[in-house]
Amino acid sequence: MTGVIAVTTSSPRSDIRPSRDGAHPVRVSMEFFPPKTPAMEETLWASVKRLEPLSPAFVSVTYGAGGSTRERTHATVKRIVEETKLLPAAHLTCVSATRDEVDEVIRSYQQAGVRHIVALRGDPAEGLGTRYQPHPDGYASTPDLIAGIRAIGDFEVSVSAYPEKHPESATLAVDIDVLRQKVDAGATRAITQFFFDNDTYFRYLDKVRAAGIDIPIVPGILPVQNFRQTASFAERTGASVPAWLAQRFDGLDDDAETRRLIAAAVAAEQVFDLVDRGVTDIHFYTMNRADLVYAICHLLGLRPGAEQKQAAA
Ligand code: FAD
Repeated sequence: MTGVIAVTTSSPRSDIRPSRDGAHPVRVSMEFFPPKTPAMEETLWASVKRLEPLSPAFVSVTYGAGGSTRERTHATVKRIVEETKLLPAAHLTCVSATRDEVDEVIRSYQQAGVRHIVALRGDPAEGLGTRYQPHPDGYASTPDLIAGIRAIGDFEVSVSAYPEKHPESATLAVDIDVLRQKVDAGATRAITQFFFDNDTYFRYLDKVRAAGIDIPIVPGILPVQNFRQTASFAERTGASVPAWLAQRFDGLDDDAETRRLIAAAVAAEQVFDLVDRGVTDIHFYTMNRADLVYAICHLLGLRPGAEQKQAAA
């Protein structure tokens, strides 16, 4: 007989790929930035509305460098509370602001019904590469800011983590020690800087666990909407861009459609590998665009209207 393919309906456990077989649920969260112009505002809200039915665990809204988007971040978060079913997390930094000013922002979130803050120190006011100077009347560091947030209300507090170390940090060990201080101050989740080599993330995770830190370290995934922009962003943040990633986008400068397909394939490959290796929570840097993130979430099994199962963090 020809043309018949033997199909086995059950495979041995060792063959199961959780990313393919839904062997464990995946929970996602998504990050947006506050829009600067009416056109950007339209793009943001179209993206939020497109992604909302996938019921992310939370959506976070960034706080511009030096508090430059204070009002816009607040307005965006407030609109999420009022016009969607999404749970917002407001980013907050302590750069160039007094304690009173930061406390006022925290209280305004509390009044708006926000219960989750992503607490950050922020970049130096004089720009990247300069020495960070806390405001003389401000919070001195992220752990200090977390303590301030917790003193004001019962907020869930997430923080940053750097698998390739923070650019200002002398060593990864110092970075992990700062993470421990943030956990001791009350942080219950860390979201990583983006990375493209999953081994980097897992090596970091091993070190974090060996240091006795047991909060979820949620991988931050940046789908490559624009390779050049991603490479320059990576340079500023200390994330490395592997040669194979550059090679995948090579020669596509004038071919936006193929770039989009490659971007989806690259991100899918990365998240499937994370899930196959036990990751249950993923945070997407959406860059305020829905289509790539929507497609990757669909591949991960998320469907409109279905509540995300509570994955073990
Ligand atoms: P921390 O983790 O507190 O510290 C960063 C590094 O500074 C440490 O690793 C260490 O090297 C050094 N350091 C700090 N304290 C000490 C200490 N006590 N002793 C020795 N060394 C110390 N930026 C924004 O402006 N707005 C945002 O909304 C925003 N969102 C972000 C979200 C995520 C998930 C991530 C990963 C980053 C985000 N950033 C944002 C960037 C962030 O503000 C910058 O990377 C900033 O330079 C550091 O802030 P942090 O909270 O990560 O710093």
